[in-house]
This record gives sequence, structure tokens and C-alpha cells, in this order.
Amino acid sequence: MVDEMNLKGRIMVEILKKGWITRKELLEKFGVAKSTLSYVISELKNEKKVKISKRVKGRGRPEEIISMNPNAWKTIGVKIGREAVVGVLMDASLKELDTSFEMIPHRMRNEHGSKELLRKVIDKLPKDGVVGIGLSVSGIVKNGIVVESPILNLKGVDFRKDIEGFGVSEVMGDIRSLAIYEVMKYGGDDFLVVNYGLGIGAGLYRKGKFSYLPIGHAVVEENGEECYCGKRGCLETVASDYANLKSFTNGNFTIKEFVEYEHEKYYEKLKELWKLSKEEREDIRKHYEKSIKYLGSVLGNLSFLLSPKKIVLYGEGTSTWMSRMLEERIKKVFDEKARVVYRKELDAFEKGAAYSVTIAAIKRGVIS
Ligand SMILES: [Zn+2]
Repeated sequence: MVDEMNLKGRIMVEILKKGWITRKELLEKFGVAKSTLSYVISELKNEKKVKISKRVKGRGRPEEIISMNPNAWKTIGVKIGREAVVGVLMDASLKELDTSFEMIPHRMRNEHGSKELLRKVIDKLPKDGVVGIGLSVSGIVKNGIVVESPILNLKGVDFRKDIEGFGVSEVMGDIRSLAIYEVMKYGGDDFLVVNYGLGIGAGLYRKGKFSYLPIGHAVVEENGEECYCGKRGCLETVASDYANLKSFTNGNFTIKEFVEYEHEKYYEKLKELWKLSKEEREDIRKHYEKSIKYLGSVLGNLSFLLSPKKIVLYGEGTSTWMSRMLEERIKKVFDEKARVVYRKELDAFEKGAAYSVTIAAIKRGVIS
């Protein structure tokens, strides 16, 4: 992610990750001469990119704290999700300044509709000082093109033209934006990131490289239910929000119907299930048993094969206890060293997209 970046850029990224940093920490991190570091820091200060303040630590000399100047630049992150298009405006210290959103009605769940709503969401945010826009889209994204997103009803869609004109623009898959959010907010250089909800997606982040793993469509039941992707017995047919809701409502609907009319027909009930599941209710847990079994098997095997340092679980459909149950199952059957962490943030996609565009702007010298 930050390789090929100059020292100045790497220092900025390090400050963004930590919030603030001392000279000593920077010297330890980058192993450069004291004079080199002083030169770069004073340059950053003169360009009004960083602020230097003093912190009194014990009885010794006050220590210098280096942090980003929040007014140095702004970025926008947007997520095109299943229910809504959500935008966030961030300052240079990665603090949220403003948000905007548009619900996606059923008739607009297509290329034309999502582009129109994207434009509206960006239009509603102030653009003064913005150096780039990052866009996070569910599905398979290659070189900025949304190759396939069955859940959003998009195929071969190019959003790059729709977000250009503000310096840097980046279109990325939703799981990649989660991985970047995780790196910047919590750190770590070796983890499996999972988004769990209506759909299930994962990615491996290792030493700055990201690989998308479409685990939601890994077949786990031969001759199982027909999935909306065209295959049979995909993980999503037995272990997603669809499966949990079907058990909870004792419903008689297919995953294809669920994906087609989720918002119109099932959303209220699904929200009720999410709420109850987060309350750790004993009577609700049974509706998640199958999901934990199958998702645990897929993640457990990945953990065994790839040995990531942690498995991070994001998504509206998950909860603290679910991540605990998953960890228990994975440890018991597949990989005793596995660690599953739950992140409750629901805005990690759009924020991750904004973080990503910030790093890209630093790397490309838009912010230098
Ligand atoms: Zn499938």
C-alpha cells in the first residue's frame, strides 16, 4: 500500500494511522538520520500539512507531538451498497465532517439508477478543498471497472467518469475498502477481512497486498439451493442473512426472491432479527447455528491454509457473540491459533474508500 512512497509520504501515512506521533517514534520506525527527519518534518510544517504541539510528560522536557493539520485537504468516500448510496466528507486528519445518502429504490437498482444516486450524493457534499473521491462498490472490481455485482444488478460498469474532476479518483471493491479501513484504524499487516450480511465476501490483506476472496459463492452443499449467481449450494444460500431470516420467520422464500425484493419485503423483519441477535438472546441463537457451522468451516479452512494473524468480521448482520461462536468453532475444528475480531462500524466502507484515496493522493504527489 505504501511502498514506492517517499519518506515524506510515509511519514504522513504513519501520522494518519496513529493520530499523532513523536519524533522518536518516527526515527525508530523509519531508521533515518535525525537531520533527514528534521528536514522533512519542517518541510511538512511549512507546507501546513502537519501541526507540532508540546506534551508534558512527567518531569522531563516536554515532548513534541506531530499530528496532521485537519485543514490541509479533504477527501470524499462513497459506498454504493444494497440499500443506499452513502457519502462521507473527511478532513486531512481523517475526521468525518459531513455525510449524505440516498436510498436505492428497487427500480433504480441498475447502472443508470446507481449513477444518478451517486451524482446526487456527491452533489450534496461541499467540495471545497477536496483532493479526491474514492468509491466502494460491492462485487468484483478490476482496474476501476465493476466487472460483476449480482447483488447490485451491475455488470461491466465504469464509474470512473462519475467521480473524476477532483484530483484523484479510485473505484474499489467493498472488501478492499474494509481492508484499508482496518489497516488505518486498527493496524496490522496480515489479516483476513470478512463482510457478513446479505452477501458474504472476504479478502486477504498481507504485507500491503490485497486479494479478494469471493467466499459467498464457494459451494458448500452439492445440489443445494440455486443461488442468484447461477451455481447451486453457495455459502450464501446456507449461511447469510437470508438463511438466518428464513429460519427466524420460518419463511418459504428463495435466495433469488430475497435478493430481488429484500428491501421491499424482508427488510423490516431482518432489522428485527439483527436487533435481537445483538442482544445475545438465547432463543435467537438457534437461527444462526447453520450459518456459524458453514461460515466457520469456510473461514476455518482459510485460516488453516493461509494462517492470517486475525480474522476481522464486519457487517450489519454480525455481532460480538457471533464472532465469539465462530472463533470457538474454528479453534475446535480447524485452527487452534485462530483469532476472530468483531468490528461494529457500519461506515467502514465509505471511510475506507476515503482513506484509500488519501493514500493514493499522497503517493501520486497530489498531496506532496
Ligand atoms: Zn452463488
